[in-house]
Amino acid sequence: MEHHPFYTVRPLLPIYPEPEEPSSGQKRWILVQNSSVLFLHDPTPGTVLIQSPLPTGLTCSEPVYLGTREDLFYYAAEIPVGAMLPEGWRSSPVRELSGKVPDNDMAIASYAVRILDFDRSNTFCGRCGAQTRPLTTERARICTACSRITYPRISPAIIVLIKKGEEVLLARSPNSPLGFFSVIAGFNEPGENLEQTVHREVDEEVGITVRNLRYFGSEPWPFPDSLMIGFVADHAGGEIRIDNLEIEAAGWFTRDSLPPFPSKTSITRSLIEAWIRREV
Ligand SMILES: [Zn+2]
Repeated sequence: MEHHPFYTVRPLLPIYPEPEEPSSGQKRWILVQNSSVLFLHDPTPGTVLIQSPLPTGLTCSEPVYLGTREDLFYYAAEIPVGAMLPEGWRSSPVRELSGKVPDNDMAIASYAVRILDFDRSNTFCGRCGAQTRPLTTERARICTACSRITYPRISPAIIVLIKKGEEVLLARSPNSPLGFFSVIAGFNEPGENLEQTVHREVDEEVGITVRNLRYFGSEPWPFPDSLMIGFVADHAGGEIRIDNLEIEAAGWFTRDSLPPFPSKTSITRSLIEAWIRREV
């Protein structure tokens, strides 16, 4: 099986224990304000990484260790809403920076937002209500009273490109930005394997059956916590029947009649482009 190397982001390794005293030159900071991150706007737009030391006069929370990549150590810190920003920096919702900052930086920025939100939302134990503290051996929090451990949530979702001869099935959901068409996607339910999720979602959204599922690849989609697992499948039977709720339009399209589909790099686009190139 040939995997398509569409996802080339280098991972940030959550290596524990946290390094004790990295040199200032090895530290990089992501500054988070609510669910936005700071990015360099002047003179050259394009980075979310701030080198140590942080500008003087900047108020921010205790640093949170994120992880390590190559020889650098990454930290997140929260700055209060309304606080002074370093010169040349502005804040932006993290998702809107996609395509504006390098993918490798974008991955760290969205991770920083995720982790600060995880810490904020899990200050207290979901079982007994006592205070939690971060573990020092892995990315998790432990309850100081009952020792329950909480991990950042990851929500697996399938995404599947369905083929029928020279045609592909694309569908549009009512909340699709700019009326883009896409492939079928949906969240995994407890107790299902991913193949069962594919069959259920395809049946629910377009009323057909598929066969011959092939794994394509996967992509984290941290807005807020999805992991997209991509498949290709063949049409097995049935005519398209849409529910008009999750899907408002769907059809079979040839390479010459494709509707608008997302222009940004994503697993959706990668699946459709691989199909256009006859690689799947
Ligand atoms: Zn507890």
